[in-house]
Amino acid sequence: MPMSPEFENRLYPVVAKIAAHYGTPFHIYDEAGIRQTGHTLARAFAGIDGFREYFAVKALPNPRILAIMREMGFGFDCSSIAELELSRRIGARGEEIMFTSNNTAPEEFLEASRDGGCILNLDDISLVPKVPEFPELISFRYNPGPRRTGNAIIGNPVEAKYGLAHDQVIQAYRRAIDRGAHRFGIHTMVVSNERNYRSMVQTVAMLFELIEEVSAAHGIRFEFMNMGGGLGIPYLPEDAPLDLDALAAEVTALFARFREKNGYSPRLYMESGRLMTGPHGALVVTAINRKEIYRTYIGVDACMSALMRPGMYGAYHHITVPAKRSLPPAAPVDVVGSLCENNDKFAIQRDLPAVADGDILVIHDTGAHGHAMGFNYNGRLRPKELLLRTDGSVELIRRAETLEDHFATLRFTADRVAF
Ligand SMILES: *Cc1c(COP(=O)(O)O)cnc(C)c1O
Repeated sequence: MPMSPEFENRLYPVVAKIAAHYGTPFHIYDEAGIRQTGHTLARAFAGIDGFREYFAVKALPNPRILAIMREMGFGFDCSSIAELELSRRIGARGEEIMFTSNNTAPEEFLEASRDGGCILNLDDISLVPKVPEFPELISFRYNPGPRRTGNAIIGNPVEAKYGLAHDQVIQAYRRAIDRGAHRFGIHTMVVSNERNYRSMVQTVAMLFELIEEVSAAHGIRFEFMNMGGGLGIPYLPEDAPLDLDALAAEVTALFARFREKNGYSPRLYMESGRLMTGPHGALVVTAINRKEIYRTYIGVDACMSALMRPGMYGAYHHITVPAKRSLPPAAPVDVVGSLCENNDKFAIQRDLPAVADGDILVIHDTGAHGHAMGFNYNGRLRPKELLLRTDGSVELIRRAETLEDHFATLRFTADRVAF
């Protein structure tokens, strides 16, 4: 099921007023829903000592959202300098931040070590000597390769550019120890948008095996394992949600078993983005054109710059027309933006009630990897972001981009150097 009935009940009665006040298009995020998911997650894993969610900043990099995560006691999973800076600007420090970069540049290591540092999660063994000041706490990202199958969005691990190969793991920790590390973690992320909880249970079991191998080789203990993000949400009406309770129960049992066998257990970290905010955001647009050619096209006032997932992954995003919810579906339509790309479609051959110019459409589940993934191709600008607060008020948390923003990096007069 796409966005929750509770979010629908909070949004639909006021969506026309919000649209009239702020103008469409906008993404709107549901604070109550985000908090509820946060509490559900924390409660589900309460049986594991030191469980912590590190919100994947790239899913929804807005300081007002990050502040809510921090209030819930969550840390931040960052993978760029901008994400580190954003997390620190809202007050996160040290081990509240996990930095998981890929193809890491020297500037990124410098930024990671500033302001009290963060948990460094290295993507490759070749990076060990490249870390300028090696931290006492180190983690490596593991890529299981042919041992696991991955899934559609993240790809097959053998072809994925992330992480250490299996036969490099022991050597990687050896080199880290030689550089002075004496506290350890391990990380992996094998799937993306996966609703089959069993695959995450397998991931945790796999990390425990690896921890035992590395611990035996070097006589060390692990402070944490980070099982990654990738917990899926139902985008299609017929999709079943991830069974979080079953996941938590089986993972908690694995932790108990490890503790029995080894006399201690590491903490469990998770870095969910999509699960935390995906269903709690919607893109609100207005229909501006209706075009009848070989198909019927409903043109709306947003495009791929606001939401790439349909064009990029062929992803399904449910769409409703709040004012016409009681009407039966008319003939199928494509809901499109105005970008000069034929994959600039929010929906293809979708059954919607008869949409007329001026109707407000709500595109569901845009709270993660939505606005954040938008791009400016074709000079199309990204829309504003709003936050629907728990008390029913609405906050502007990011204004829309302007042409000034878009032209800010251009030189309209020559800026020439002779070589
Ligand atoms: C993108 C990403 C996540 C978050 O993925 P979700 O599918 O949003 O849960 C977590 N960890 C890493 C390293 C990532 O790259």
